[in-house]
Amino acid sequence: MNGRAALLLHQSECRACHVCVDEGIIPEATPTFEGRWGAPFFLVGQAPGPVERESRRPFSGRAGKELDRWMVQAGFESPEDFRRLTYIAALMRCFPGRNQAGNGDLKPPPAAVANCTHWLELELRLLKPKVLILVGQLAIARFLGPGRLEDRVGHRFGERPVMVPLPHPSGQSRWLNDPANRARLSVALTLVGQLRSGLALAQRRRSNSDGGTATAPR
Ligand code: SF4
Repeated sequence: MNGRAALLLHQSECRACHVCVDEGIIPEATPTFEGRWGAPFFLVGQAPGPVERESRRPFSGRAGKELDRWMVQAGFESPEDFRRLTYIAALMRCFPGRNQAGNGDLKPPPAAVANCTHWLELELRLLKPKVLILVGQLAIARFLGPGRLEDRVGHRFGERPVMVPLPHPSGQSRWLNDPANRARLSVALTLVGQLRSGLALAQRRRSNSDGGTATAPR
């Protein structure tokens, strides 16, 4: 089976997953992720929210609008361009539920993240993304270990793939109220933009040497 077919099979198996319901961790399984074969960017978030539970599209709520805005600021031509080039998944793919105070979503329970890990790992093995965008503390810690957001956002890590941490765009955290942190975000978006431009350039070179037959980042 080729990689594209393996990814499609994986996606259909993941959409049918309900192991966390069977284990009593969540009442309803709504696996949410999106992306296509050949995507050079891979974004890892924390977990879908209530809007995504309904739409089954990652980052389709208010935080997603902010994320799209950030990506256009970084240099993607449009939100559609960002989503065309980016596979979007999360550490926990189903909505974890609202917190007791009712003013936010629950953090993904460790048992659900553990159950969900193999979906993420297989996608990373199949897609071999060039760039990992890590959104929020949990996703950053999953790949880089525990650490302060201030020491992560605005820096790039690794080479294959390059990892670029971002804060969560939900606005729930006050982290971005600090001008120094907004400056860190701006640097991080510049890094993402440079990687987007670099991939487009490499693709154009490949396309020229192939006689213009290749497709991919424009
Ligand atoms: S959170 Fe992940 S492992 Fe748990 S039911 Fe949803 S898709 Fe399956």
